[in-house]
Amino acid sequence: MIIAVDGPVAAGKGTLARRLAAALDYAYLDTGSIYRAVAAKILAAGGDAENPETATAAARALEPIDLERDDLRLETVSQAASKVAAIPSVRAALLDFQRDFADRPPGRRNGAVLDGRDIGTVVCPEANVKFFLTASVEARAARRHKELIERGEESIYARVLQDLRERDARDSGRATAPLRAAEDAVRLDTSSMDADQAFAVAMAEIARRRD
Ligand code: C5P
Repeated sequence: MIIAVDGPVAAGKGTLARRLAAALDYAYLDTGSIYRAVAAKILAAGGDAENPETATAAARALEPIDLERDDLRLETVSQAASKVAAIPSVRAALLDFQRDFADRPPGRRNGAVLDGRDIGTVVCPEANVKFFLTASVEARAARRHKELIERGEESIYARVLQDLRERDARDSGRATAPLRAAEDAVRLDTSSMDADQAFAVAMAEIARRRD
């Protein structure tokens, strides 16, 4: 069983995907962390995230341990991640890792939940259930702002909103695997839904598909 959870920044994908995986005892892969790890390695080495050769080499050399880096959530890394993610050869280099995870989930689990931007469209077009989460840009910026403050980081709402708009534009506008809903995805607008409501709707949908 493969469950795809796609959507823009801070639409609630990670929270939903993690909860689904825990409830169903499936493996969970946050595919954003893969792009973040590539970007973080380049930045740490003083490289240019927009250089296709540098970025592709970093993607090919990526190891599972890199996904554990503690700098993956920095805003500089978020921006650089969406830059490396727009390079087609980077995406190609990371495809097999994601598909292997979905097809053979670690720990011999019976299923996998993957969250990202192109899981339902490119990585796992055959996924059994696909969710596409959306929310207004203001609702998403408010959530991200709150998250940063709670983590003890400095945050200015207007800057968060601006960064998010830039990342949205890059993720939706790129030629390869742009952010978009698969035709057979279940759309959930989480603007006025809390995490429990989104989880309940998603579990009901999964139960309906399994019957
Ligand atoms: O989801 P997260 O914000 O961690 O992802 C970081 C960046 O990685 C996104 O802005 C996007 O550019 C890229 N990404 C992607 N495809 C995915 C997951 C993430 O292009 N499946």
